[in-house]
Amino acid sequence: MPYDSNNIFAKILRGEIPCKKIAEDEFYLAFHDIQPCAPIHVLVIPKSAYKDVYDFNQNANPDEIIGFSKGINQVIELLNLRQDGFRLISNFGTYGGQEVPHYHVHLLGGKKLGPMLPSS
Ligand code: 5GP
Repeated sequence: MPYDSNNIFAKILRGEIPCKKIAEDEFYLAFHDIQPCAPIHVLVIPKSAYKDVYDFNQNANPDEIIGFSKGINQVIELLNLRQDGFRLISNFGTYGGQEVPHYHVHLLGGKKLGPMLPSS
């Protein structure tokens, strides 16, 4: 499936819908998740159009990959997440439950997050 440029994060990148921005540069945008799962729940997205983590890792150029990784670190610094720790998640596909088809990572923190997955 090709990249869907009508997805909600593409609209945020184009400024068509608002977000609570934390930081950005030419490679990434970071903003608060609209339905936070933790006291700190930030989404970091690349500025370029990639569907998911596989697409990004496969097709992004080295500048985009480095820029995105450094962007995550900038957010970690800005939100002072290194001392107490955080969790970084990227959902993919049906089992992962990705809802928005523009690559993003969730950066979660602000409290002890507990087990990685709820026990079933
Ligand atoms: P996914 O399930 O694709 O990994 O995560 C998508 C995330 O995007 C969800 O945590 C959801 O709350 C968040 N989200 C969906 N729509 C919006 C929106 O319009 N604005 C913001 N800031 N977050 C959104």
